[in-house]
Amino acid sequence: MRFDLITIFPDFFSSILAHGVLRRALAAGLVDVRVHDLRAFAHDRHRTVDDRPFGGGEGMVLKPEPLAEAIESLGLPPKADRETTPGSAQVILLSAQGARFTQSIARDLAAVDRVVLICGRYEGVDERVSQLFCDRELSIGDYVLSGGELAAAVVIDAAARLVRGVLGNEASSEFESFGLADLGPDSATDGPPRSTHGAGGILDYPHYTRPAEFRGLAVPEVLAQGDHAAIRRWRRQRALEKTLRNRPDLLAAAALAEDDRAFLRALGWKG
Ligand code: SAM
Repeated sequence: MRFDLITIFPDFFSSILAHGVLRRALAAGLVDVRVHDLRAFAHDRHRTVDDRPFGGGEGMVLKPEPLAEAIESLGLPPKADRETTPGSAQVILLSAQGARFTQSIARDLAAVDRVVLICGRYEGVDERVSQLFCDRELSIGDYVLSGGELAAAVVIDAAARLVRGVLGNEASSEFESFGLADLGPDSATDGPPRSTHGAGGILDYPHYTRPAEFRGLAVPEVLAQGDHAAIRRWRRQRALEKTLRNRPDLLAAAALAEDDRAFLRALGWKG
């Protein structure tokens, strides 16, 4: 999978590409990230990429011509002339006005061969860039950043780790927060539970490692007793509790068994 980033701050990405899962994915050739300096597509002496807004008001706006040239230099024509078959390229504008980026969108992107991410700055990007070239606008949350670079880094990290082969254990992304796996307490498997909390769209359960006691807090006993069914049940319940406490909105669409619902109702859930 290949990402192309268009930005006025190309150096911004050197750190995120040099660490952890992303670094390994790049080294293994599973993911390719190319960073393009928008100013290379400006033709005046000052390499100008922004201008004042029509209609007046504060700030500057990224001009359409350098962005159009940058996108076209990647071999991507305006979207009207592009194939929109699954698996082909997606051109994405990072924008506070975009649709909210989610794990489900990250999964969709991980299945695409090529993703182009356009990082806005100042007051944003001339609207015609989105109209002509972008398949979607994505926001990473309901707040305003000073530039699209941080948002692009979030999108790359979330999508790249879902590309086949990037995480050592293929199943591990299925069993984390917002995962697709639904292994409730009744779906017992032989052997130790890997991460079997039955995410099914809910949050992950709490994790513990050594030491068994830390500053007066002991690791829950059930985790040390080797009863896999009990561990699975405990993890499922803690994941449900945490979701109810921190993200009750997720429960409406989550894959819940009848005993999950009973457990949540006993905690005051009204669903
Ligand atoms: N005037 C814009 C607004 O109110 O929606 C904010 C522009 S912001 C200062 C500059 C750039 O940061 C945007 O063009 C976009 O690329 C990026 N940005 C800001 N917030 C973002 C968010 N929540 N998600 C994704 N990108 C964001």
